[in-house]
Amino acid sequence: MAPTTPMPVITVDVWKKPWEQEKPLHNRWHPEIPHVAQVVEGEVFRVEAVDWSGGAIKDNNSADDLKFSDATGHYLSGPIRIIDPSGAPARPGDLLVVEILDLGALPGNEWGFTGTMDRENGGSFLTDHFPYATKAIWYFEGIFAYSPHIPGVRFPGLIHPGLIGTAPSKELLDIWNAREASLVDGTVRPPTLCDVLHQRTLAHLPTPKGSLLGLVEKGTANWERIAAEAARTTPGRENGGNCDIKNLSKGSKVYLPVFIEGANLSMGDMHFSQGDGEISFCGAIEMSGFLVLRCEIIRDGMAKYLTPMGPTLLHVNPIFEIGPVEPRFSEWLVFEGISVDESGRQHYLDSSVAFKRAVLNAIDYLFKFGYSKEQSYLLLSACPCEARLSGIVDPPNAVVTLAIPTAIFDQDIRPRKDGPSAGPRVIRKPDVLKSSYDGSLPVTKNLAPV
Ligand code: ZN
Repeated sequence: MAPTTPMPVITVDVWKKPWEQEKPLHNRWHPEIPHVAQVVEGEVFRVEAVDWSGGAIKDNNSADDLKFSDATGHYLSGPIRIIDPSGAPARPGDLLVVEILDLGALPGNEWGFTGTMDRENGGSFLTDHFPYATKAIWYFEGIFAYSPHIPGVRFPGLIHPGLIGTAPSKELLDIWNAREASLVDGTVRPPTLCDVLHQRTLAHLPTPKGSLLGLVEKGTANWERIAAEAARTTPGRENGGNCDIKNLSKGSKVYLPVFIEGANLSMGDMHFSQGDGEISFCGAIEMSGFLVLRCEIIRDGMAKYLTPMGPTLLHVNPIFEIGPVEPRFSEWLVFEGISVDESGRQHYLDSSVAFKRAVLNAIDYLFKFGYSKEQSYLLLSACPCEARLSGIVDPPNAVVTLAIPTAIFDQDIRPRKDGPSAGPRVIRKPDVLKSSYDGSLPVTKNLAPV
């Protein structure tokens, strides 16, 4: 008889708040957040996760929720303690192999969102050009997504968890907090793009405000201490975390370093689709969803496979193995950027400046085909476009390219002799939606004075 799989380990109710879930969620990294489930290596198990905002962003025609939402963390499912068949937990120094066997949207909840944050509330990659909150809703038809806010495009998703990682040890957590604080307190000079995008936060340091710590009891001295030192989930780090690898879909594997006993695996921030770079910050098609997983422990795998790049043995990074299932595109329009910024200033081999130029070139190009610049910004953030570091060795210019699959558009967007003209752009929306969805993007512009 076939095995009855997968075993449900964590379920969520998308109509409940993150702190009302049956198995409490968490939105910080800390070794003392207790595990909420335990799994034996080799078992096939199922985890459900709310979208990163925990349901704060709604399926409606307004960007107000993105203007005011807390953009400084993700609500995660876990931690899950991993043991071997003899009952021995994963130990520091092991490698945890996480195989993603399947994943998808939750039945009855087949929709997602892409947006930009207000500049005062997190901003985005191009926040100097787009300083306000915007939002596009996407509806899923099986493997495809379409948006009533960005008419004329439809593409298959490549569902993946934006965030997956193990808990840090106290020693690693202290390393994170010290190095990120050095950026904020000015001990370390901010990198170049920060000069350009100085409005964005340099780093989000630990704060009890908004902390959700799973089974750690709120109101206790223990909660206060852990909340004051627990790392935010925004950046990817040595434990994996918010890696945002758009191809980490069905059949992929993640090889995560284990820093504490049991590994304490957590995940969330599910994406239906994402472009390389996740440029608009709330940048993928963000959704709630499920994952079917299987874990394996490679004893002493960190020493066997990872090389520390830094002053301690903890300065490692995970390895990712991309699975066999992806949408197939054969034709791409490619935009180039070099490390010269919009003011004409030369930067030295700065690939972030070059990528910014490539994205701006693509946005202005699509504008000629009838898309507002905000629509293109969100589209390039959410559709399966690919960024490549084409050249990083020829001083002074880094060359970065952004490739857009042409098949996602219902018009021909290639350059032609007769010049660009806005072709057909059919506004698609479910019948239940009212006329307020006119094919334009909700934008909330009332910026607070700087
Ligand atoms: Zn996300």
